[in-house]
Amino acid sequence: MLNFSKKKFDIIIIGAGLSGLILANEISKKSKKSILIIEKKNKIGYEKNWCFWNKPHNIFTNKYDTSWESIKVKIDEEEIIYKENNIKYLHLKSSTFYKYMTERLEKKKNIKILKGKKINKIKKYPEKNEVIIGKFKYECKFLFDSRPSLIKKRNGLFQHFVGYEVIFYKNVLNNKQVTFMDFQSFSDGINFMYILPFSSKKALFESTYFSKKTFSRLKYKNNITKYLDDNFPNVKYKINFKEEGVLPMFNHNVKQQFNYFPIGIPGNWLKSSTGYSFQNCFLNSKLITKNIIDNKKIRINNNFFLIFLDEVFCNLIMKSSKDLKIFFLYFFKKNNLMLIVKFLNGNINFFDLLKIILTLPKKKIFISAFDVIKKRVLYNEST
Ligand SMILES: Cc1cc2nc3c(=O)[nH]c(=O)nc-3n(C[C@H](O)[C@H](O)[C@H](O)COP(=O)(O)OP(=O)(O)OC[C@H]3O[C@@H](n4cnc5c(N)ncnc54)[C@H](O)[C@@H]3O)c2cc1C
Repeated sequence: MLNFSKKKFDIIIIGAGLSGLILANEISKKSKKSILIIEKKNKIGYEKNWCFWNKPHNIFTNKYDTSWESIKVKIDEEEIIYKENNIKYLHLKSSTFYKYMTERLEKKKNIKILKGKKINKIKKYPEKNEVIIGKFKYECKFLFDSRPSLIKKRNGLFQHFVGYEVIFYKNVLNNKQVTFMDFQSFSDGINFMYILPFSSKKALFESTYFSKKTFSRLKYKNNITKYLDDNFPNVKYKINFKEEGVLPMFNHNVKQQFNYFPIGIPGNWLKSSTGYSFQNCFLNSKLITKNIIDNKKIRINNNFFLIFLDEVFCNLIMKSSKDLKIFFLYFFKKNNLMLIVKFLNGNINFFDLLKIILTLPKKKIFISAFDVIKKRVLYNEST
């Protein structure tokens, strides 16, 4: 029999990414519980650009890298520009996030971060969880796991993108305005360009799709090059940095067992219709912390109507993406930025949600809603 060297913690968090570090930070602000964070990478730095709205407030609302007050959406020749008092779109480099969070957590005596570790086994029991790494056995009451889910959904819809940080040799960008969506195509899914200008010379251009099929990297690259040639003819540029992602536009079947909880993307903290999870990580981590302190069953609030509407929207993309041009046009033209932000964040009440639904093509929504209900009832399946 193997003789493990045993170490006990109140809480173990697997993954020192967005959800793992936010959860550890929230728990550590409110309690002295011992926390072990296990990360497979040795070094985590600048690999992603996270954006979020300045509402609701979180610890990065005042520690961002870039901020914009003007938001542009472009559909064909129609440009919709928003500028509302007090609403800002904020950008945070993942390197800024990791540095701030790890420095803060590493100062605390009750928190330990293990980097570059390969987990051999996880054992879940009603009264405890065990994580085995080499000859060490780490025991805890609560185990939170942000490792990406290995379950692939057949025929699932994905948000997939490749972004290039481009540096122009001339001042050609309006660095006060973010291009949220510049729609390029509505056939076989949706394709749009997302542009974050960091200065008048530097911006991230991201070719983004909502579709079932992902493509070779070359396709996204060609889209970006063509976009640059069309919009900035004869301006020289170089490519500085690349980010990419494939995000599920469906909910995972979350397997919460005893005191084992998937968090982050595998815990459905990502809003499936938009790919945002930044604000949800704070909201859900606060809820979990409260449940732990109050000694209550750990629960995450899931807004049923919002999840249902996300499914209806994703079903529309899968079935008839060409109909979505009018859908997006109405969504962006007929709603104010505050309502849109609430919807994108997922912290919207039923009446505000209804207000948005009433601005959209009702017949298409109704047919898609019926489709989703049918799938759920007949096949016990979500979109
Ligand atoms: C390029 C990109 C840009 C994005 N931009 C935004 C945005 O602007 N706004 C927004 O709200 N959302 C954005 N998202 C979506 C989402 O917020 C991020 O993907 C976010 O990082 C998800 O958080 P997470 O904790 O689930 O995963 P992660 O942040 O990826 O954290 C998971 C951690 O687990 C570690 N890990 C994996 N396997 C193991 C293992 N076996 N053992 C130990 N550790 C392991 C990983 O190394 C990683 O550090 C973006 C996603 C990508 C990919």
